[in-house]
Amino acid sequence: MSLAMNIVELVSAKAQDAGGQRVTSVELEAGTLSGVMVEALVFCFEAAARNTLAEGARLEVREVEGCGRCQGCGHSFALDSLLAQCPQCGGYGVETLQGRELKVVSLTVDE
Ligand SMILES: [Zn+2]
Repeated sequence: MSLAMNIVELVSAKAQDAGGQRVTSVELEAGTLSGVMVEALVFCFEAAARNTLAEGARLEVREVEGCGRCQGCGHSFALDSLLAQCPQCGGYGVETLQGRELKVVSLTVDE
């Protein structure tokens, strides 16, 4: 719930900067390793946006697949967990390249 409220606060502040326009849609990028439950987030966002400039805004979540690189052999592969093992050499020194991000990439306000 607090995550949804943070997003509402962020986009409301931006809408305020834009001259107090209503937010019509918000685009969010969420990595599959970020631990975000997309459906729950969308539901909470709608509730948190009530009586704010973001009320009624559509929250679009773009999921970003996890990807990592082995520090031992340099092999890159899809990650579905932060505790991954390199499929090539079996090493555990895996650097997460993407999949942990959680950010608002754009928002649309009423003209
Ligand atoms: Zn490796």
